[in-house]
Amino acid sequence: MRIKRFSAPTLKEAVGQMKKELGSDAIILESRKVKKDGIFDFSKKERMEILAALDNYRDPNKKNTEQKFSRNKTEDIKFNSDDNLKLQEIELIKEELGEIRITVAKIADFLRYRNLPSLPENLLLVLKQLLDCEVEEILAKRLIQEVHMSLKGEEYDDLRLILRKLIGKISAMVKTTPQNSKINSTARIIAFVGPTGVGKTTTIAKLATQAKLIDGKEVAIISADTFRIAAVEQLKTFANIAEIPFEVVYSMDEIKNAVAKFSRMDLIFIDTTGRSQKDKKNLKEIGNMLSSVEPGEVYLVLSVTTKYKDILDILEKFKTLFINRIIFTKLDETTSLGLILNVAEKVRKPISYITFGQNVPEDIEKADSRKIAKIILRRNFL
Ligand code: GDP
Repeated sequence: MRIKRFSAPTLKEAVGQMKKELGSDAIILESRKVKKDGIFDFSKKERMEILAALDNYRDPNKKNTEQKFSRNKTEDIKFNSDDNLKLQEIELIKEELGEIRITVAKIADFLRYRNLPSLPENLLLVLKQLLDCEVEEILAKRLIQEVHMSLKGEEYDDLRLILRKLIGKISAMVKTTPQNSKINSTARIIAFVGPTGVGKTTTIAKLATQAKLIDGKEVAIISADTFRIAAVEQLKTFANIAEIPFEVVYSMDEIKNAVAKFSRMDLIFIDTTGRSQKDKKNLKEIGNMLSSVEPGEVYLVLSVTTKYKDILDILEKFKTLFINRIIFTKLDETTSLGLILNVAEKVRKPISYITFGQNVPEDIEKADSRKIAKIILRRNFL
């Protein structure tokens, strides 16, 4: 069997191409209208595309030559010595494999999306995009349904309008902290919690440097280390270089003393170290230490590279720590940013910052709802 896709401005022309190439025995498996240059071409020019098949295909150009290779379920492919012909035959096989790949992808798509509501083409397209970037299915469908209800008549054909509406809806869901202050904080004592390796220490280094060098604030850093695991060395070195006063504390008394010592400072950043969110005792100790100094802001730092299932576990475990803000790190490491929306919907705490690299202090930005909505939809990354 030979399967081939033909595309032309009209159905008649596409069928003409098919007959010319495959002969009059070819049959049309599928026909559809397609946008000229892929899904985000806004020119509105459409072409007709048909998927055609011919059983027992023989290349009409090779009619008078001996059948150069034959194959069936049991026979191997046999080549004769004509190199040119061999190459043509390999090309033919490659082409057929390409077609099979497309068909398999279509079947996979069909299986994935078969339970989706029957939606106008453009809405289905943006729904697929939300699912591709790992927005939870139920949430993605709800958003698309809301956009659906707000459209009428020809607006369904306007993909730009649909995306604008969707960005509006996502922005409204992603709460962020107010943009007025230079450093996104009004509190004097600010704590950072979250699993190890997400970027807490790096984020503190970025914020402390900006607060000191750009905003001209007096800042200090306290590292609350419940395990004496020497993870504080990195922060200590940074604090020395940046000439920022620094203390490591291991108990409630020590943290209270350190805060008292830095009473003249405008801002005190508290880093917390631990082993894992699975260690309840450790989380309790961190909680006790923090509540003894009552930080005005407690940031939960989350990496967008973490699996959503693990994020749910982290949210559950860290909720005892009086978290009131969120920071998302490592946006440079993935394009599947639906996780931000999933978390925003679940937690309803404002997002304060996003970080997108290891450079201190520049790879950090205050969170902006609209910008986050756009990067989730991969409309304009940073
Ligand atoms: P902590 O254990 O939560 O304090 O995490 P660290 O601050 O020690 O960071 C762990 C690793 O992540 C380090 O290699 C950092 O350089 C890296 N990191 C932190 N923030 C970012 C970011 O926004 N993007 C990338 N690509 N790496 C980051």
